[in-house]
Amino acid sequence: MAQPSADESIDGFRARVRTWFAEHVELTGGAGAESFDAVESARRFQAALFDGHLAGLTWPAEYGGQGLTTAHQLAFNEEAEPYVVPTMPLLIGLGMCAPTLLEKGTPEQRDRHLARMLRGDEVWCQLFSEPGAGSDVAGLRTRAVRDGEDWVVNGQKVWTSGAHYSDFGLLLARTNPDVPKHLGLTMFVVDMRAPGVTIRPLRQITGGSGFNEVFFDDVHLPGDAVVGDVDRGWQAAVTTLMNERVSIGAGGGGLGRRLGGGEFAALADVARRRGGLADPVLRQRLASVFVEERLLELLSQRIRADVQAGRTPGPQGSVAKLAGAQLARHAAEVGLDLLGAGGAAWTPDDADAERWTQALLGAPGNAIAGGTPEIMKNILGERVLGLPREPAVDRDVPFRELRVGGGRS
Ligand SMILES: Cc1cc2nc3c(=O)[nH]c(=O)nc-3n(C[C@H](O)[C@H](O)[C@H](O)COP(=O)(O)OP(=O)(O)OC[C@H]3O[C@@H](n4cnc5c(N)ncnc54)[C@H](O)[C@@H]3O)c2cc1C
Repeated sequence: MAQPSADESIDGFRARVRTWFAEHVELTGGAGAESFDAVESARRFQAALFDGHLAGLTWPAEYGGQGLTTAHQLAFNEEAEPYVVPTMPLLIGLGMCAPTLLEKGTPEQRDRHLARMLRGDEVWCQLFSEPGAGSDVAGLRTRAVRDGEDWVVNGQKVWTSGAHYSDFGLLLARTNPDVPKHLGLTMFVVDMRAPGVTIRPLRQITGGSGFNEVFFDDVHLPGDAVVGDVDRGWQAAVTTLMNERVSIGAGGGGLGRRLGGGEFAALADVARRRGGLADPVLRQRLASVFVEERLLELLSQRIRADVQAGRTPGPQGSVAKLAGAQLARHAAEVGLDLLGAGGAAWTPDDADAERWTQALLGAPGNAIAGGTPEIMKNILGERVLGLPREPAVDRDVPFRELRVGGGRS
């Protein structure tokens, strides 16, 4: 069909989405997020969506988007609700890296990458955290040093989700250690298959290997790999991190699917099938999951509407991230309580036990990813409640002179 127009009626659009899902139902309900099969499922789904003029609904048409409105996006989300959309491996690229390139990238970077990301042809990861720099990511030590027009990168990243299946990453590196830590960083596009990049998967408590250590040994990057301005990487990183919190908290990436979606319905289903509804305490706990989920849904809707109207996500992304983490943990605890002893020791055919045990084991990591609860509360305190800023004694000290992170430690 022809490129859609923002004038397309919502009813007509809904019918188009419904038909598309009915015709592509075999592409939905893909495998878990960490295996290569899951990446292939995500790529196939996203390519079909792109080819059906349904990817990047509110993105500009010049970068492969549809140039449609927030109302179209919300209609799409509702129509997609009954399906499991297997786009998780694309979440970092579409929800965080792409918005950063849209806002800070050069026209060449946008032309080269955005449509390919949107079609699932390029999978991206985010290379910020290091062994000594997570919450305090501005204290990172990976160095990028000029070599003529190029840059040479040395250092180590950690917890890089999806690095093992990514084509490109957004790398944050120190380019000037003689200025305070936030002022000497630069963001780069890095080809994950470039010589000198070594990726080592890390095993998690869930049994999966979703994230990695990434080592850079004399990796050469061309001058046009810089995103935004040299030594202004912090501003670009803030764009990525804001979008990350929105993506995690409100499901704003890719299709805008709710990450916390359906916990109450799934728990109520377990309670009905396996007994539990007769217990007034469990009923009350189920009700509190319902309330938390509903509140998060409403908050997420508001955030998505803001994002789709072109407003930069603010601290409400942090609120959603915090609320989403609390809901996930709470729901998993209720799930395990519903299952009783069978939740601790289960047989391989017990899908309920598998789901809720994985949810409980995954909850702490998901709460940390994208900013810990304590950091979210700091942001809430400072930017929503107007409390005094956290003391930052290192803010004006040249990075080279810092005891932690700066090389003197
Ligand atoms: C599942 C998962 C996926 C991830 N994916 C990525 C990724 O793709 N790319 C990437 O770059 N990173 C990724 N990360 C890393 C993540 O961003 C960091 O783990 C996170 O920012 C916390 O940093 P840290 O682990 O170094 O902990 P630290 O910062 O060392 O924190 C340790 C403890 O101290 C507390 N703390 C620290 N500073 C303060 C403060 N100022 N006030 C109050 N308390 C404080 C923290 O809340 C925490 O409890 C991922 C992490 C997880 C768990």
